Amino acid sequence: MTARRIVLLGPPGSGKGTQAVRLAAWLGVPHISTGDLLRSEVQNRTELGLQAQRFMDRGELVPDALVAEMIRKHIERAPGFVLDGFPRNLRQAEILETVTVVERALHFQIGRNEIVRRLSARRVCPQCGHVYNLISNPPQRDSVCDECHIALVQRSDDTPEVIQRRIEVQYAREIEPILDFYRKRNVLREIDASGDIDSVYRAAQRALE
Ligand code: AMP
Repeated sequence: MTARRIVLLGPPGSGKGTQAVRLAAWLGVPHISTGDLLRSEVQNRTELGLQAQRFMDRGELVPDALVAEMIRKHIERAPGFVLDGFPRNLRQAEILETVTVVERALHFQIGRNEIVRRLSARRVCPQCGHVYNLISNPPQRDSVCDECHIALVQRSDDTPEVIQRRIEVQYAREIEPILDFYRKRNVLREIDASGDIDSVYRAAQRALE
C-alpha cells in the first residue's frame, strides 16, 4: 500500500516543495506547507502573521506553539497529507505524533553549494504562489508567471546571508534528532535530491511504496 501520511525533510532548496506539490496531486491528499501558510498569515496581517513575521525575516524558526496550532487545524481531519516544512525540530516531530501517525518521512539530501545556487535562482509568483527556478524550471517567458502573466518575485529570505542562516540555524542543528526519531520508527527513507525534478520525483514515488 502506498503511504499517504507523509513528511518531507530536507534543507531549503532541496526541492521538497516542488516534489510536495506533485506527490500530493498523485496521492490525492493536501499539500501542507508551513512556510506557505505562514506567508499567507503575514500577508493577511493576522495576529499569528504579525507574531511570525519578525522570526521569518531573520531566518529563524517561528515558535513551536504558534506553528503547532496551525498545523493541527490542517491535518486533524485530513485522510492523508504531504507535509512540507514541518517538523523542523524534534519537539515538532513529537507534537505531530500526538495528532497523527506518520507513515513515511522522506529525507532529501543535497550539498550546500547546490542549495545556494538553487535558492538564488528561485522565483515565485506573488499571485498564485507557483515556484519557478530560472535555471532548472524556468517560466516560458522571462520572469513572468505562466498562469497569471505577472512578474515573478524573489522571496525576501532568499538572499545569500539569510540562506546561510536558514541552513545553519534551522537545518544543520535540528535535522539529526528528527532523522533519528523517524529512523527508530522505521519510516525514514533517504532520497538523493541532487538530480533533476523528474528523477527525484520517481525516487520519491518508489520510497512511498
Ligand atoms: P519555508 O518556506 O519552509 O522555507 O519557511 C519560511 C520560513 O517560515 C522559515 O524560515 C521559518 O521562519 C518559518 N517556518 C516555516 N515552517 C516552520 C516550522 N515548522 N517551524 C517554525 N518556523 C517555520
